[in-house]
Amino acid sequence: MITRRRAFLQENIIITGKHVSAQVPNSWQQQLSQAIRDPVTLCKRLGLSSQWLPGAQAGHQLFDICVPDAYLARIVPNDPQDPLLLQVLPTGDEAQTSPGYVTDPLEEADHRPAKGLIHKYASRVLLIASPACAINCRYCFRRHFPYSDNSPSRSQWQEALDYLRNDTTIHEAILSGGDPLASSDRQLAWLVDQLESIPHLKRLRIHTRLPVVIPDRVDDALLGWLSKTRLQKVVVLHINHANEIDQAVIDACQRLKQAGATLLNQSVLLRNVNDSAVILAALSERLFEAGILPYYLHVLDPVQGAAHFDVPDSEARALVAQLRDHLPGFLMPRLVREIPGKGSKTPL
Ligand SMILES: *Cc1c(COP(=O)(O)O)cnc(C)c1O
Ligand code: SF4
Repeated sequence: MITRRRAFLQENIIITGKHVSAQVPNSWQQQLSQAIRDPVTLCKRLGLSSQWLPGAQAGHQLFDICVPDAYLARIVPNDPQDPLLLQVLPTGDEAQTSPGYVTDPLEEADHRPAKGLIHKYASRVLLIASPACAINCRYCFRRHFPYSDNSPSRSQWQEALDYLRNDTTIHEAILSGGDPLASSDRQLAWLVDQLESIPHLKRLRIHTRLPVVIPDRVDDALLGWLSKTRLQKVVVLHINHANEIDQAVIDACQRLKQAGATLLNQSVLLRNVNDSAVILAALSERLFEAGILPYYLHVLDPVQGAAHFDVPDSEARALVAQLRDHLPGFLMPRLVREIPGKGSKTPL
């Protein structure tokens, strides 16, 4: 079924390519439609032995594989411990249930005053601008998110926009998802236009992994609406390991900065991916080379299927204390946890 769909997509691209020859080759949409979406291809492309396949298949049943080529290219083949691979390769561990690990760890369902809008913290709201992502991270706290109820179309945004208009204490709109940049630029430009017309809104924040996963996402269409808005712009990237930042990512960050965005990064502390002070220090250094400042280092949200990524709080605190010995203060991320019911992220 999945393979058939992929074959259909590929065929479609070839057919479309024949008719619209002027189309930009390898647009981000094309790269996304060609992303690896099945366990066999993923293992084959990375030279992984068949021993990894049953686990990959089991995890894939719970949360689909999605890995675009641009990201795959940064994974070292033949290395089952590669820190980027571990973020995208499903394993049998995902089928395990652990006490305290639930499907809605942040209890966001209680904070939705309008469709597609989450208002938990003072002065800022989160808008679910796209249900989709360009990559499926195995530790994702949204892996069980009921997206079908939360991806409003244009007319359905009205309720959220009215809510924003009527609450003058809100100064910042945060586009989130999924990944907001998985939306079309036409849709995003329209939404930003609407937001811009709300006088008390000052800032537009975009939480996205797309410029890291498919750097070509930062194209002229995106830069068009981003550079033209009166709102101050913050882009919070999501990078967990220095190896995720290649030259294409650095170039994409440069374009975002030229459009006037302040660049920050949030990471998740993940077992076997970035659970050492040396790796976290290298990440901060590399982020700064790309013009990004570390913002948050999140401990894992207790989402069902991700317990094998957990690093206990005591170890997390010790790691960050060690990290302080490596880095200048401005390259230190804030270690936080999200606790349902609290008015902000909670420092650890
Ligand atoms: C994390 C989060 C924010 C943003 O919090 P900051 O501390 O400002 O980065 C806003 N709304 C929700 C629902 C969040 O989960
Ligand atoms: S990009 Fe973000 S929201 Fe999407 S799967 Fe990864 S962690 Fe989850």
